[in-house]
Amino acid sequence: MAFVVKRAQHAGACYGVQRALDMTNKAACEQPSVCTLGPLIHNPRVVTDLESRGITACNSIDDIAASSVVIRSHGVAPEVLSLLSEKGYTVIDATCPHVMRAQQAAAKMAQDGYHVLVVGEAGHPEVEGISAYARSKGGQCTIVDGAADIPKQLEGNIGVVVQTTQSREKLDGVVSALRERGIEPLVKDTICFATAQRQRSAAELAEEADCMVVIGGRNSSNTTRLFELCQAHGRVAYHVEGPEEIDPSWFEGCSVVGVTAGASTPENQIDAVIAAIEQVAPQA
Ligand code: SF4
Repeated sequence: MAFVVKRAQHAGACYGVQRALDMTNKAACEQPSVCTLGPLIHNPRVVTDLESRGITACNSIDDIAASSVVIRSHGVAPEVLSLLSEKGYTVIDATCPHVMRAQQAAAKMAQDGYHVLVVGEAGHPEVEGISAYARSKGGQCTIVDGAADIPKQLEGNIGVVVQTTQSREKLDGVVSALRERGIEPLVKDTICFATAQRQRSAAELAEEADCMVVIGGRNSSNTTRLFELCQAHGRVAYHVEGPEEIDPSWFEGCSVVGVTAGASTPENQIDAVIAAIEQVAPQA
């Protein structure tokens, strides 16, 4: 059995996730005790590794049993940051700068009297955080997961910000629906390209490969989306979290094995899986 292993051009940890990991590791070296407010990323192996080094994931402020607290790349409501400071914790704010841009845009719109529509998934920590920034300025804010969610009654100036991982199509759909109602919104396009880039690269590679291996947490929605995308391109795809899951029989008859990874998959996990694939089936 001989084949070539090809890695997608854009795959693995995005800027914001890598930054959060680096900040957490640095804090672990410098601070007496560190925890993260919620699991740092959607990757069980990374979370387990952090736990093994004493960096636990606390579910709420009441659970914190460390002197320093890491805020995840999704960000939090401004009240949470204030409360942590009031309680005397050292806050390591790993909110992704792209998310911060959305938070600040929502706050500014609300301050200027706009009713803010946040295009995104209600309940997602990033979206709840962005909305909280708008509300902290006393503004009205509504989360819309598409044009159908736009409130029937809208008065005054309307501003639109968007969850960083949403698609351009969804944002355009909301803006078009507003325009059809004669509303010209102020739009801050806060979409981050990391997700779309990874999806485009995975789709391109899936066209060329005989089978695809997708690496990342099973609880990671962006990794699962990559897996589904590979399947949608007619490829046999396997979603793995680590090298021990690799089964040599998957690659029988393959000439090209494609590998991609979600935005919450660090480089060492990708390297380990690629090494396992190459080991069980030497390359052509
Ligand atoms: S996907 Fe984009 S916005 Fe989200 S953490 Fe990564 S770089 Fe930041």
